[in-house]
Parts: sequence; structure tokens; C-alpha cells
Amino acid sequence: MLKKFFSYYKPHKRLFIIDFSSAVFVAILELAFPVAVQRFIDDLLPTKDWSMITQISILLLVVYIISTFLQYVVSYFGHKLGINIETDMRQQLFTHVQRQSFRFFDNTKTGHIMSRITNDLFDIGELAHHGPEDLFIAFMTVIGAFTIMYNINPELAIIAIVMVPFLSIVATYGNIMMNKAWKNMYGKIADVNARVEDSVSGVRVVQSFTNESFEIARFKEDNGQFRLAKLVAYKVMAGTHSSIYMLTRLVTLVVLVVGAWFTYKGTLSNGELVSFVLYVNVLIKPVDKITALLELYPKGMAGFKRFLELVEQDPEIQDSPNALTVQHLKGDITFEKVGFRYDEHKPVLNDISLSIKAGETIAFVGPSGAGKTTICSLIPRFYDVQEGTISVDGLNIQDITTKSLRSQIGIVQQDVFLFTGSIRENIAYGKQDASEEEIRDAAKKAHLEDMIASLPEGYDTQIGERGLKLSGGQKQRLAIARMFLKNPPILILDEATSALDTETERFIQKALMELAENRTTLIIAHRLATIRDADRVLVVTEDGIAEDGSYSDLVAQNGIFARLHNIQFQEV
Ligand code: ADP
Ligand code: MG
Repeated sequence: MLKKFFSYYKPHKRLFIIDFSSAVFVAILELAFPVAVQRFIDDLLPTKDWSMITQISILLLVVYIISTFLQYVVSYFGHKLGINIETDMRQQLFTHVQRQSFRFFDNTKTGHIMSRITNDLFDIGELAHHGPEDLFIAFMTVIGAFTIMYNINPELAIIAIVMVPFLSIVATYGNIMMNKAWKNMYGKIADVNARVEDSVSGVRVVQSFTNESFEIARFKEDNGQFRLAKLVAYKVMAGTHSSIYMLTRLVTLVVLVVGAWFTYKGTLSNGELVSFVLYVNVLIKPVDKITALLELYPKGMAGFKRFLELVEQDPEIQDSPNALTVQHLKGDITFEKVGFRYDEHKPVLNDISLSIKAGETIAFVGPSGAGKTTICSLIPRFYDVQEGTISVDGLNIQDITTKSLRSQIGIVQQDVFLFTGSIRENIAYGKQDASEEEIRDAAKKAHLEDMIASLPEGYDTQIGERGLKLSGGQKQRLAIARMFLKNPPILILDEATSALDTETERFIQKALMELAENRTTLIIAHRLATIRDADRVLVVTEDGIAEDGSYSDLVAQNGIFARLHNIQFQEV
């Protein structure tokens, strides 16, 4: 898994090298500084050569400035590296999700996909940046500092290094506690969010019951819980930080006292003592970094694992290696002994055979749940059949690229999905490169023209989130305009007008019939009045296609369809 992880560094090799080498350089300067101080005190001060002392001081200042600049480079380019890797992964994930088949979305919660694409990757970026760098630098400085200290005075070096594990234990423990506290805090803020969402989206209900103060009280409760959780987190943080602070000072103090005794005995120079105290700090710094890594690593890797799980899951429906690209299908459709089920135990379609000629208008009727929608979603290969074959123009759909197959099929459903944006953008969704004229033409054919003309901003009118500023009938006509623009030879209308009132339906029916002209059209309909003109009616039941014939033939047959017909027209 680590190998896979590191493969994401490849496109950013240069950035990694800049970042890493700067970090190594900073570490070397940090290691060298106490030695310089020691030489300064022991060798330079006794000479009283003030011009030399000034020169060396200026040199040290220059080194400091360089080191500061390098630290900036490490921080900026290091984080840039992390963000780049995170962005690459996010893009890959989104691309992958876009390619997944319907079954994937049937079985995966939208919220989960969203959190994988956003939150899960946050820690990966941080880990990508800090992981290899901090680990390497930490080891380098600990080993480097200890070696130098050992060379100066072995006993004192051992005293200093012995304290490090204690420090690590405290830091690790503090980190674990902090993690818990933060996690708890995130849970509480999620509660606050949920409460806000509930009350705000339900504000009309709240106000109509005049329950504002009730809502405010509930919010106060959650808000207070959040405050408590965050306070606890800060308390743990303060405790951890001050314990670490105390321990580091303690180490410094011990080194100072023991060192002073050594200088008194003459085994340590004054400069060496000062440099020792400075080295204690160099030695201790990585402890912080390593404990932070200990926390970051499992978090980042857990996110990476979830990322891989998704990315390595191939889409169920893929083009065969030598799939054909189709361009202008005539629109013949044949089902041959098709069997299909969504899950193992419950067959939905069994041994379905039917043949539709190009240009025909076929109506599917039957009880809800019989499989009408399913039949239609097999044609664009949203799902693959388990038995039998489906062909268009005599070609098995599994031998055609899904992209070109789907470009030949248009679907209008009961609940139209529109995107946040303008009317123009939503119509143009049917053909990305449509000209202004084509868009206007499509709107005209869908009988949208007058409505758009009456809007102050016309085609630029924003339709709101999912088109919530439009009525059901307007949305449906927008979907029809989109379809006129796409102009597919095969059209599927899946209860396209079922959600509309009879008046609106009649109006839209006209646009739909115009849309259906010169295409193979499959209509799934609820209200039989809308399918009177169909060439053939297929009655779909749980046992398959029960009846097949023209509207009047089926009424005369006195079967299932005749019964449906009688019920509906008695009611009216
Ligand atoms: P109709 O359009 O005739 O009302 P459908 O084709 O929507 O019927 O549904 C046929 C059967 O398949 C129903 O039993 C339904 O519960 C089931 N079904 C539909 N879609 C799915 C799905 N995505 N996953 C699992 N089962 C489904
Ligand atoms: Mg249906």
C-alpha cells in the first residue's frame, strides 16, 4: 500500500526534491548552530578580537536569514506538495465515481461518496507532506544531535537522551487524549449542523406553529454541548502542552546542573555547556513531530485505504475491447429471451422477447413494480442483462461503446433533474456545443418560448437549486427542450407527465408527441389517455409481457388492458 501511496509523488518529483532538500538543509543548520556557539564562546571570546567577533556575528546572522528562508520554502512547498497530491486523488476519485454504473449508486449512500471525496482526503494531503519529511528529519536530528553531544561529553549526552522516552510517552498519551476530545467535538458540531439544517429548512413549519422559542431552546442545548466538548479538547491540549513544556525545561535544568558540576570539575568548557543546553532543544523538537506523525499516519492511511477501495473498484459496465461506435441508429430494438434481476434472489424480468421497429411508438402499461422502468433502463445499458441479448439495429448493445449507445437514446422521466444554473445552461445540457439558435429552436418546440419571454432575464433566469423556482410543468418542458436538442433516434418517456395535473399534462402532451415524431418512442404511461395514438401497447405484468397489440385490439380482447381501460374511463 505504501508503494501505491508513493506513486502519487511521481508527478510532483521536483517539488518533493526542493522541499526535502531544503528541510535537510535546515536540519543541518540547526545541528551546526550550537557547535558554532560553543566555538564562539570557547575559542573566539578569549581572543578579544572584536573585529573578528563582529564578522562572525554577521556571518551567523546571514546563516539565520538563509535558514529562515529555507523554512519558508519547506512550509510553503511542502504544503503545496501535499495539496497537489490531495487534489490529484480527489480528481481521480470524482472521475472514477462518474464512471460507476447504476448498481454502484443503488448500493452507496450519497453522503458517503461525498465524505470520501472531500473529508477523507484532508488527512492524506497532510500525511503526504509531513510523513516522509518529518520522519527523516526527526531521525536525522536526534541521531545527529546525540552523536555530537556524545562526542562532547558521553555522560551528559546519555543523561539527556534518557529523558526523551519519558517525553515521548507524555506526548503520545496527550495526543491520544486530544484525538478523542477532537473527535467528540466533531460529533457535537455535526449535531449543531443537523439542528440548523432541520430548523432552517423547516422554518415554514416552525413559524406556522409559532415554535421559534422551542427551536431556539433546542439549539441552545446543542450549542452548549458543543461548547463543553470544545472546552474539554482545549483543556486536554493545554494540559499536554504544559506537561511537555515542563518536561523539556526539566531536561534542560538537569543538563544545566550536571553540566555545571562538570565544568566545576574541569571536564566541560563553558562553551560546551551552553551548546549542550542548546542541543537539548534540538533533541527534543523531533519528539513533537514524531508524536504528531503517530497520530497523522493512521488517520491518513485510513483515508487512503478508503480511497483505494473506491478507486480500485472497476465500473460494472465497461466497453468490450473492440466495441463499435455507432452514430446514426435507425432505432430498431430487439429483446431476445432477456432475463434480469437487481439482486440474486428476486428475478424482475424473465424470458422477455420483443421487437420494436424503427419509428414505432410503443406504450408500456401495467401495475407498478412490474418492471417497465427496468426494461427501459436496460436499453442504454444502465444495467447488464443476466440472460439473453438486447440489440439495436441488429447490433448487440454489449458490442457498442456505452458512450455512443447512450448518445442515441433520450430519456424523459417523471422527476426531471435540473442543475443549478440558468434556463439556457439547462437546455444546453442536451448538447454541450449547441448554438444560441439551436437552444431557442428547442425551447420553441417545447412550447417554452412564451414563458421564457415573460421572464425579465429570459434565458439567463436562474432556476434555483434543482430548478425549484419552476413549476412541475415548466421543468418538464425544459426537459423536453433538452431532448429536442439532443435529438436522439430512440426516446424513452417514463411516466413523463404522471406528476402533472390533467390540464398541464394535456398541454405538455402536445410537445411530447411532437418530440416523438420520427423516432422510436417507448412510453411508459399511467393514464391511458396519453397513449391512444401509440402504434402498439404492451402490457407488462410480473409474469412478463401479457398482452401486445394496438390500443383498440387490446380493448376488444377483454383482458388485463381492457379492465384497466374500463376502470380509468369510468372514473372520468
Ligand atoms: P415499474 O417501472 O413497472 O413500476 P420497476 O422497473 O421500477 O417497475 O421495478 C421492477 C422491480 O424491480 C420492483 O420490484 C422494484 O422494487 C425493483 N427495482 C427497481 N429498481 C431497483 C433497483 N435499483 N435496485 C433493486 N431493485 C429495484
Ligand atoms: Mg417505473
